Amino acid sequence: MKKLFLLCLMVAVCCLSFSYKKVLAHPLDFTVLQLGCHSAGSTMESVPHILVIGGIQGDEPGGFSAAALLGTHYEFKNGYVTIIPNLNFFSIVNRNRGSFGDMNRKFAKISRNDPDYRAVRRVQELIRSPEVDLILNLHDGSGFYSPIYVNEMQNPKRWGNSVIIDQEEFKDIPFGNLGEIGRRVVAKVNENLLEKGHSYHLKNTETAKGDKEMEKSLTWFALGQGKPAFGIEATKNVNTPGRVYYHLHAIEAFFEEAGIEFSRDFSLTIEGIGEALNTDIYLGFMDDRLILPLDDIKTSQIGVFPMRKNYGVKGNSPILTALAEKNMMQVYYGNNRLTNFKVEWLECDTSLESMEIEIDGNVYDAKFGDMLFAEEYVKILPQKGYRLNAIGAVVGNGPRGDESGIKIYKKDFQKRFSLDKKGNQYRLEVYCGAKYTGTFVLNYVQELPENPVYSPLE
Ligand SMILES: [Zn+2]
Repeated sequence: MKKLFLLCLMVAVCCLSFSYKKVLAHPLDFTVLQLGCHSAGSTMESVPHILVIGGIQGDEPGGFSAAALLGTHYEFKNGYVTIIPNLNFFSIVNRNRGSFGDMNRKFAKISRNDPDYRAVRRVQELIRSPEVDLILNLHDGSGFYSPIYVNEMQNPKRWGNSVIIDQEEFKDIPFGNLGEIGRRVVAKVNENLLEKGHSYHLKNTETAKGDKEMEKSLTWFALGQGKPAFGIEATKNVNTPGRVYYHLHAIEAFFEEAGIEFSRDFSLTIEGIGEALNTDIYLGFMDDRLILPLDDIKTSQIGVFPMRKNYGVKGNSPILTALAEKNMMQVYYGNNRLTNFKVEWLECDTSLESMEIEIDGNVYDAKFGDMLFAEEYVKILPQKGYRLNAIGAVVGNGPRGDESGIKIYKKDFQKRFSLDKKGNQYRLEVYCGAKYTGTFVLNYVQELPENPVYSPLE
């Protein structure tokens, strides 16, 4: 992720790049990311603009994980890509198709009292926006669609590994030759199959001929607004990285069709996808006064954390969030509950943003939320009015004492207090009287990185 942010800085002059400056209004609101740019000689309206939607059904992690990577690990030129990675976020964290019924059957009509009402209306508005030229709706489908019956897993009733259109063409609009585009995309994906039996096919639902179910879908709604739309289905018969692999191959083929140039910072292989999905993931709370590193987080309860009521979450992936239930906080990454912790609801003190910290002999200025890396020890330089609690360390003068001004070594920590499974990451919490000020996460490492203080969400 670090590399990505550097890249963004370099191209920010012209390109809209991923950044998560905004705290979510509600931890389960869907995210809208707009990336891309146009060259000096053109306008935003004159370049292609694709809307990609993931997570309309909560139990299809291939689609929403692919969309999340698209929003965080890609850059685009000569066009725009708007990404909604987590449309049905409530169902994603609950790992079901639709907590309030199938959202993809609510686009013809929806009751105002339906809990999905706001999400459906918001996405319909985006579909209608004049600058959007083409819409892709990502799904994970069962088995393998095949126009002829091959076997139980591979036949016309299956959906997996297909590109879906509602009709062969939609006259007089750009990208209206749905069938032709779909067949070219299918051919491109078929050059990259993981296994021989995984062939993609084009599936035409011929919705206008009376498919009552498809008439309620997002793609049919889009066509009704004059917007070409495709469904993309990856097979549920492979694991999440495999599904993401197929989704991204298909989506990149659509970008090529549209003439949108793109680059990504990982290799499109199962290994590359696994790494992009599972490394450098961080979730911040309380304006980043606490940032949790999640790559190796313990799945069991990781302790008691001070938290203010309006805790505001912000992660570096749009499918990360945290939900408080009474005195417990649950941390989610897509369909997975990563960890949980107890919460002590406290007032927050915002009188201090950073502290001077000595790490292995050198002094650094670190903002709350920063990761600190040490080979040997860390010492928070004492500051009048503030108190350090190194969680799980046996140093200083008891649990309520101030542990600033003391060198804290890895051996001082009891491993059961570590955040990570390996036992290298610990919390340094700072308080101002009874109020909570902020946390540094300390990482004991074999070799000190070039910069031992790192702000992961900037
Ligand atoms: Zn689906």
